[in-house]
Amino acid sequence: MADDQEFDYMFKLLIIGNSGVGKTSFLFRYCDSSFTGNYQTTVGIDFKVKTVVRNDRLFKLQIWDTAGQERYRTITTAYYRGAMGFVLMYDITKTESFVAVQDWSTQVKSYSWDNAQVVLVGNKCDLEKKRAITREQGEQLANQLGFPFFETSARLGDNVSETFNKLVDLICEAMSKSLDSGDPTIPRQSVEGDMLTETPPQAAESGCKC
Ligand code: GDP
Ligand code: MG
Repeated sequence: MADDQEFDYMFKLLIIGNSGVGKTSFLFRYCDSSFTGNYQTTVGIDFKVKTVVRNDRLFKLQIWDTAGQERYRTITTAYYRGAMGFVLMYDITKTESFVAVQDWSTQVKSYSWDNAQVVLVGNKCDLEKKRAITREQGEQLANQLGFPFFETSARLGDNVSETFNKLVDLICEAMSKSLDSGDPTIPRQSVEGDMLTETPPQAAESGCKC
């Protein structure tokens, strides 16, 4: 295993969406390969870190969970700061979580970096019998918003790593485009004080070669 300092890029990613759609489960499935079915006690968890290799590059992903604040709509703008990618999640068995996607998308656009990338995720695809939102409806909304789309199951692991891989690839593309065009708006890797200062200097200065 590479030690903490050995990575090419660090990305801050956020999982957002209504309460109960499976955000915490999704995070644990991806980072710990586990699913316990009840994460009520996870209030207070801020983020988990996962390293992945894409195109011969080592990426350190710092993935934030809303730890319950989404229930009260009290997510602060500070939470969005420096985020380069979002997993915007709804629950395929809950229409209101699907309807709320539009609001979440507006929040992302208002509070995050202009080039932040979003993947739309319809979670709990293992619950086919309880399905309220068809795959086509999901695809249609994703097209309309301009986001890639996956149906996932945090319970079974379906499309969980695919979602993060897609997000990493999109961020890389956006970074290289923005550097090609001389756009200086790439967010500093340092978020919230010294949290991410271990990022090597080249991550902020050179283009993503993937
Ligand atoms: P959060 O509020 O968005 O963080 O949602 P949680 O991760 O706490 O999940 C809410 C509930 O949905 C829990 O009872 C989970 O066990 C359940 N859940 C989450 N993901 C899945 C999934 O993919 N399939 C099924 N069947 N249940 C899930
Ligand atoms: Mg949660």
